Amino acid sequence: MRRHRYSETVRDLFSETVLSVDKLIMPVFVDENLTGTRPVSSMPGISRYGLDTLPGYLASLEDSGIRAAILFGIPSRKDHDGTEAYNPRGIVQKSIRAAGTLNKLVVIPDLCMCEYTDSGHCGILNGNGVSNDETLESYKKIALSYAEAGARIVAPSGMVDGQVAAIRLALDDAGYNEVMILAYSAKYASTLYSPFREAADSKPAFGDRKSYQMDPRNVREALREMELDISEGADIIMVKPALFYLDVLARARSRFDVPIAAYSVSAEYSMIMNGVNSGLLPPGSINEAIVSIFRGGADMVITYFAEWLARNQPV
Ligand SMILES: [Zn+2]
Repeated sequence: MRRHRYSETVRDLFSETVLSVDKLIMPVFVDENLTGTRPVSSMPGISRYGLDTLPGYLASLEDSGIRAAILFGIPSRKDHDGTEAYNPRGIVQKSIRAAGTLNKLVVIPDLCMCEYTDSGHCGILNGNGVSNDETLESYKKIALSYAEAGARIVAPSGMVDGQVAAIRLALDDAGYNEVMILAYSAKYASTLYSPFREAADSKPAFGDRKSYQMDPRNVREALREMELDISEGADIIMVKPALFYLDVLARARSRFDVPIAAYSVSAEYSMIMNGVNSGLLPPGSINEAIVSIFRGGADMVITYFAEWLARNQPV
């Protein structure tokens, strides 16, 4: 076997996994309350952008070679029903319009309500839980407002049953049959989201999300979730988080032929970046982590390292 490893050129020739910047999606936070930029202290190197600085940042991502960004909005107003999420002049809708001038960068709005409800939950509350079908009505409105603003891909992340079918039908009925759905299909109730909650202001005011996000102990259930999303019309299915869930990804890859995305989440980023910044880990750990997600079966990876990799790594 060592014949295949004797030089870098030969190793590259024999490599089974190619890390390409074309396959990376950069998460971006846009904050309606902000002018300029503000660093996210729990995520070294990551900032929130105001609507004034966002277009320049997206253009710089495009220049770096990044081809897709997933967008999270922080509104100036939250309410019980999260109505700002489908305001035609809301922060994400304005951002999609602002990004419309970019030729090569695809902006994918995340579609959920946790940044918009005063409870921080992902849907309409009914008693102490998220009401499934009332929430679907809101998701349809959000999807239409994103499509009207010019989005070509929407990414429902609330883990509410039937969300893909509801959004697909609403889009088709309104003539937006060209708009794709990137479905957060197997999204686990993970501890690895905590830095994100600072970044996106989306910590639940009470309780947790275990009644809609998946139990980390389950993998067959994840395959059922993915199968349902495919049957409901998902163009891309997703596993989230990535690094602790590579088995889920590998099982999905062997079962399904649709495109699969993996979301390497905020704590995956912060753990590795803090390791690199403190000298505990060499920067090659970043490459190794993201390669492992592709090797596990992802077609595309959403990662906070996307920009770092585009700028620091000849990928
Ligand atoms: Zn949510």
